[in-house]
Amino acid sequence: MDFYDDVKQTAEMAGEKIGQFADIAKIKVKVLDIQSKLKALYEKLGKAVYFGNEDDLSAIVEEIDAKRGQIIDLENRLDELKNKKVCGDCGKSNVKDATYCNYCGSRL
Ligand SMILES: [Zn+2]
Repeated sequence: MDFYDDVKQTAEMAGEKIGQFADIAKIKVKVLDIQSKLKALYEKLGKAVYFGNEDDLSAIVEEIDAKRGQIIDLENRLDELKNKKVCGDCGKSNVKDATYCNYCGSRL
């Protein structure tokens, strides 16, 4: 209602934005980490093919599939974070251009 409420609300909103950016940064770091592990796995796969270690192939392919799945999940999460606005009152995600929260009606 008064000045201090506005200040408090602005501070909360800023905190949320920072939280959102921190999450995005963390996810990007994770994606890079998984990508470097993937690179190593592709190398391993190449060696296994070259040296004819057929027993290793399916295990390596499974690992690659799992890592690729993780990257897809993280990228989806990134899209979500970039395109959503989190409500300061109830914490639910709303579309980026929403003015009011779809769940509790608070102004975003
Ligand atoms: Zn809400």
